[in-house]
Amino acid sequence: MVCPSCSHEDTKVIDSRVASDGLSIRRRRECESCAFRFSTYEQVEILDLHVIKRDGSLQPYQREKVESGRFLRTTSASLSPRSSRRSRRK
Ligand SMILES: [Zn+2]
Repeated sequence: MVCPSCSHEDTKVIDSRVASDGLSIRRRRECESCAFRFSTYEQVEILDLHVIKRDGSLQPYQREKVESGRFLRTTSASLSPRSSRRSRRK
């Protein structure tokens, strides 16, 4: 894997951990040239997975779509004054 910082071609894995769901692995990597550290994720991709829409149509599952939607909801919720007050109390 190429270093995202200096584009050096060799990076070494310094740690790898299986996520709690058991379906993905996170690897900590370090560039052998500039010592830049970053992580990569290896996860299961189920081929030919489809989602049934509310209107009954079948569409290919797109993880990116689902996750970007979830991200937007989380962001707007955390920006509301009520939720920030609640989190400060903890
Ligand atoms: Zn580098």
